[in-house]
Amino acid sequence: MTAYSAADLRQMLSRLRDVMAGIGSVQERLDKLVALIAHGLKADVCSCYIMRAGEVLELFATFGLSQRAVHITRLRVGEGLVGEIAAHGRSLSLADAWSHPAFVYRPETGEDFFRSLMGVPMIQAGRIMGVLAVQNRDERPFNDWEVETLETVAMVIAELTTTAQIVKREELFPAEGNALLPVRLSGSTLNAGLGLGQAVLHKSHVRIGRLLSDDPAVEHGRLQSALNTLRKDVDTLIDSSHGEVSDFGDILEVYRMFADDRGWISRISDVINTGLTAEAAVQKVSDDTRIRMMQMNDPVFRERLQDLDDLANRLLSILAGGGMRTELPDNAILVCRSLGPTELLDYDRTKIKGVIMEEGSPTMHAVIVAKALGIPVLSQVHGALNRIDAFDLLALDASAGHVFLRPSEDLQEMFAINAAARQRQRAVYAASKDLPSVTLDGVQIELQINAGFLIDVQALAETGASGIGLFRTEMQFLAMPILPDVKLQRTLYRQAVDAAGGKPVTFRTLDVGGDKIAASWSAGKENNPAMGWRSVRLTLDRPSVMRQQVRAIIQACEGASLRVMFPMVATISEFDDCRRILDMEIERHAKAGGVAPRTIAVGTMLEVPSLIWQLDHLLTRIDFLSIGSNDLIQFVYAADRGNTRIANRYDALSTPVLRMLRFIAERCIAVNKPLSLCGEMAGKPLEALALMALGYRSLSMAPDSVGQIRDVVRRTVLADVEEFMISQIDSNSASLRTEIKSFAQDHGIIGEGIAV
Ligand code: PEP
Ligand code: MG
Repeated sequence: MTAYSAADLRQMLSRLRDVMAGIGSVQERLDKLVALIAHGLKADVCSCYIMRAGEVLELFATFGLSQRAVHITRLRVGEGLVGEIAAHGRSLSLADAWSHPAFVYRPETGEDFFRSLMGVPMIQAGRIMGVLAVQNRDERPFNDWEVETLETVAMVIAELTTTAQIVKREELFPAEGNALLPVRLSGSTLNAGLGLGQAVLHKSHVRIGRLLSDDPAVEHGRLQSALNTLRKDVDTLIDSSHGEVSDFGDILEVYRMFADDRGWISRISDVINTGLTAEAAVQKVSDDTRIRMMQMNDPVFRERLQDLDDLANRLLSILAGGGMRTELPDNAILVCRSLGPTELLDYDRTKIKGVIMEEGSPTMHAVIVAKALGIPVLSQVHGALNRIDAFDLLALDASAGHVFLRPSEDLQEMFAINAAARQRQRAVYAASKDLPSVTLDGVQIELQINAGFLIDVQALAETGASGIGLFRTEMQFLAMPILPDVKLQRTLYRQAVDAAGGKPVTFRTLDVGGDKIAASWSAGKENNPAMGWRSVRLTLDRPSVMRQQVRAIIQACEGASLRVMFPMVATISEFDDCRRILDMEIERHAKAGGVAPRTIAVGTMLEVPSLIWQLDHLLTRIDFLSIGSNDLIQFVYAADRGNTRIANRYDALSTPVLRMLRFIAERCIAVNKPLSLCGEMAGKPLEALALMALGYRSLSMAPDSVGQIRDVVRRTVLADVEEFMISQIDSNSASLRTEIKSFAQDHGIIGEGIAV
């Protein structure tokens, strides 16, 4: 049975408010607060642990434990139950705390008599500031309502401890011993590029002035009117973005749905009923959401929750009476935990030189938007928000995967030199865009680009690439609530064909599922989504999706060359099924009097290893083969391509991979079947060199890589590399990276300082 009601909670919060606003030092007020909470929750103990430097939680105040332990008992994050709560940002409620494996006994606290424990993280603006815990003598379970109550109280106390600066920020997040020393933080590249600028801590502008309300009815009214403004804002944003960059206008449509999400709104209303102001309630629900997000493996849910988080911030800002626009310095680098696409659009884009995220994944909407706008993005930068202060100078090298904080003048100079050198290099590459991609001994290597958005297609002209070797059709649709109809698809594909100006475009049919989740398709929770219901597995099970897509592609290619390929094909029969649908649609198009494509080429991607042992049969059925090395290598090594922990464990230049690629090339060459490779390795100098040596004559890569790879091609005597590769590939070394690098340097193919 619940020991108290919402009215009790309101009363307790109102007393807390009196104490917080009252006289006395912060320590005195904290002492009163823990006593109040213990009484309010009818608990024997209430303790408040606060995070100090070095990720240590210090007992700052307690009611019920020995006062001698205050400021003495310290637990590392992850140590003991309190440390566990802080480490995972997750509440714990245990009837018998002593039997929990993480329990550690601290004799100085005198906690011998207390069996049950309920602890919650104290979170402020998404950061764990400490832990609030209550304990009881009896072995009694705490219910959900009690946990939620303590979470609400913890939020209020977190605000107090931060505002009062109980622990100085400098102490909490020391700049690695010396605030003036530059620090390097690493992350993973989501959009390559360089940026030098001042840190802008995203969201720091939404501060909640008032946490506790006098009258819930007034707060409900404020929430309603803020929600109305929110809906109008989203509509305006949708209208204004459509014409701008067509790629992401549709992403915003999803927001309309969330702004009406009943579950979300009613959770906020419930919290208002407990006595918090509307903005504090939004913040509380948003913090809960973030915590849930941290614990979620399912990318569909994570990304949807991210969208909700974005909306919550917008709502908060409306409630706080501020606009979303923050004045930016001319060169701003946004630092955030994660970012919603509308949040990025709210800033003055011309001033944003980069984005640094503590989280982030390649398919998140904000990244898609950032790519469309050419903003470098570094993700998975752990501790970024803790270590970076507003207006810190940052030197972001998203291409190399790191950022320098407070770079010294020397470092800034080096960075500027480096940036200028890269700029010059790019200019050299750009100037050589029309030079033939031919080796010194006269072998032509076709260089194509991978594209996903219309904006990528423009790179054809800028890079001089000969075509689009991979058009990832799903990219434009990832954020749409439903797959667009044939008409809209045709328009988008036709725009790509037109923008390519006669150069071939190889459309890949939808590759959704796995790490690429569209709002419209959710396979539900899968244990291994990359190996689950994705790509043709999904579209063959939903043939109308496949039919409509190929119909749109055929219509878009009227009078032009039609090149289509299918992703994730694992068996010949899957290819046959795809082909059958395509043929049916070509026939349908002809019967309807449509103009036929000028030429038709149908291929498949090779990204599932099983296809390698069906190659001879497959090659008789297809017009071309394109290797998706990103997936192929992940399956060969059973190593998740999105998992940064194992990212460097398996090398694309390892002998098993090279021998596999040689095998495929030999089979294709034997029957004269066009072969290309469109995974990331095609755009890396050493990898591209190895591929050329193995017989690959067509490579498709990110537009940024074309210049460098053309340069590699033009410096290579292919016969020499082939001979070198023959001498090495059957050796027993695990990887040939070092050997290939030395070869490339010795033969003047790559310079000493060139990043490989
Ligand atoms: C690949 O797997 O190598 C590939 C090009 O496809 P994607 O990266 O889109 O999965
Ligand atoms: Mg793939």
